[in-house]
Amino acid sequence: MQQATDTKATSPADLPVYRFRSLAGANVVHGVTTRTESLPLHGNMSYMVGEAPDLVAQNRQAWAGAIGYEADRLVLGRQVHETSVVVVDESNAGNGADSVESSIRRVDGLITSTPDLPIGVMAADCVPILIVDPERSAVGAIHAGWRGTVDGIATAAVQAMQNAFGSDPADLQVCLGPSICRSCYQVGDEVVDRWESGRFARVASPVDVTSSGYYFDLRAANLGQLREVGVRNSSIEVSDLCTKCANGSMFSRRGLGPKTGLFTSVIMLPEPGLRST
Ligand SMILES: [Zn+2]
Repeated sequence: MQQATDTKATSPADLPVYRFRSLAGANVVHGVTTRTESLPLHGNMSYMVGEAPDLVAQNRQAWAGAIGYEADRLVLGRQVHETSVVVVDESNAGNGADSVESSIRRVDGLITSTPDLPIGVMAADCVPILIVDPERSAVGAIHAGWRGTVDGIATAAVQAMQNAFGSDPADLQVCLGPSICRSCYQVGDEVVDRWESGRFARVASPVDVTSSGYYFDLRAANLGQLREVGVRNSSIEVSDLCTKCANGSMFSRRGLGPKTGLFTSVIMLPEPGLRST
């Protein structure tokens, strides 16, 4: 008897992983999961949106195979739209891999210098940010929604890498992943007020005022912060893929509703002596 999931059987190599051009030559394993008909639940990676956990687990295995890490070693934080960034190591392997409960509490940024330890962040319109320090062999995965953005999580992540690994911001390669674009992200007064009264208002101008209301550019707000803390402009890649404009090829809360799934951006240093391909 065929299992129901057989109709969704796809080789991991055929799954549509999003990858950053600027990391093609970097010695890291990375990838961003997408939304696809080839997997159950369209490839949702999150246990928190009320979908069948066994199918989410199946998706986590499939995407891990496609990106190139072991699913049961994935480290995830329980994201709360704040600015905590924590250093993780081998002792954290698998935290968040098979349940929400095992994930690292109240954290929106993970950084590590441990090889073969995949770290990830979930999003569905918020900006996922991956960071590589090729000099100090360290990586980071950051979740920047509007609250994290106005409170400076990108800045906090770079500073955490300086403190933990001695990273020089000028050495960092930073990638802003698929996220909601400026023209899709209409926001209320509270977002604009928080940005304009916040610490980073001078580093970027992400607010458009139009006759239909305010629009906020999450990418520009994070980009401005990264430049200000010393990341080179030429070392920052900003994906122009909008989660909402992507017409269902990415999960988007604004595009598909609040119960939609989430995608994951993962980064990992390879085992010593091995180069990623
Ligand atoms: Zn858009």
